[in-house]
Amino acid sequence: MKRVAILGATGSIGTSTLDLVEAAHDRFDVTAVTAASNVAELAAIARRTHASLAVIADESRLGDLQTALSGTNIQAAAGGSALAEAAVSADLIVAAIVGTAGLAPVMAAVRAGLRIGLANKEALVSAGALMIDEASRSGAILLPIDSEHNAIFQCLAGQDCDHVARLILTASGGPFRTWSADDMARATPAQAVAHPNWSMGAKISVDSATMMNKGLELIEAHHLFALPEERIDIVVHPQSVIHSLVEYADGSMLAQLGSPDMRVPIGHVLAWPERMATRARRLNLLEIARLDFEAPDTVRFPALRLAREALRRGGAAPLTLNAANEVAVEAFLAGAIHFGDIAATVEDQLARLDQPLPGSIDEVLALDAEVRRTTRERLKVEAH
Ligand code: NAD
Ligand code: MG
Repeated sequence: MKRVAILGATGSIGTSTLDLVEAAHDRFDVTAVTAASNVAELAAIARRTHASLAVIADESRLGDLQTALSGTNIQAAAGGSALAEAAVSADLIVAAIVGTAGLAPVMAAVRAGLRIGLANKEALVSAGALMIDEASRSGAILLPIDSEHNAIFQCLAGQDCDHVARLILTASGGPFRTWSADDMARATPAQAVAHPNWSMGAKISVDSATMMNKGLELIEAHHLFALPEERIDIVVHPQSVIHSLVEYADGSMLAQLGSPDMRVPIGHVLAWPERMATRARRLNLLEIARLDFEAPDTVRFPALRLAREALRRGGAAPLTLNAANEVAVEAFLAGAIHFGDIAATVEDQLARLDQPLPGSIDEVLALDAEVRRTTRERLKVEAH
């Protein structure tokens, strides 16, 4: 039995993870589940999976969670230290909290030397150097759940990148791939979250529409695979069948293919180094018939350029890029700013702030909070 903790169990990745572990209950024992504030759903998941611990991030909901779990022997807890406790309660953590809210619990698991199925890319973007250093000290293993990085991880087949010429991240291009800049400027939140190939949480859906998601993934790939920015390419591939590729020194290219269903990379990580069955749809190559590739347009999608610049600049620039983006996306979803303001806000914050990455997680979190505060101030929006 593998002991699994699911951080962000009520979200899109959390739900796909539950689908897999519940179908293979003879292989997985769920130790802990967490959520931001949805007590009813968290309690239902905890009861269904027989978890020992259920954690609600919002401390004001602890009483409700205790009531919802009364009559069970599931421990109810709330707040940051309880999230960290959940993160070290198992052998394998599925890190599926969205945003830098997931950073502290992920770091607790890294420090404890656990296996971490990492969906929470924002944590790695903000504190990549710290996390990778700590993982090499503790022996923690980062197993990428993000489909592109999982594809590369599979293509590398346990080898490091010594003989790799470059990585090629594929991008669907998102819902606005064929839209004009003018139409994009007027895009509504409903249009931005309507992804053509993937069904995901609201924040990452907006990131796909701006293509900031691919920018964050570029930084994520740099940390996971220890390659410099100029050896990581991005290619638009609208069908989302090839999830990414590795080009080797000898000219061989390896790709991983699958239907656009996160249960494939999550299942890979859950079972690693073995394999498990999933109910994901099989690819039918004859039905697909053709695969298309396009160069990304960094004029309509400035986020791609900003992410490359942030990675090249290093220090706290990726943290700034991420924190400003999280605030801007939240403001866009709340109807407070236009679609085009998202990348403009990030560019503005990147130009204002230039500092080294602090050496501790507490300082990283303080800097993240500071970037959020100044971004909100400039956008004249309130913290939610
Ligand atoms: P989601 O919004 O559907 O779910 C987010 C989860 O995090 C929920 O369980 C929510 O309760 C929890 N959460 C939110 N804010 C929190 C906070 N402040 N404190 C504690 N918990 C909090 O998001 P998602 O689409 O499942 O994405 C999760 C992560 O996985 C993101 O980092 C995203 O970039 C990454 N990812 C998602 C997909 C996908 O297909 N959805 C693919 C690749 C990577
Ligand atoms: Mg991805």
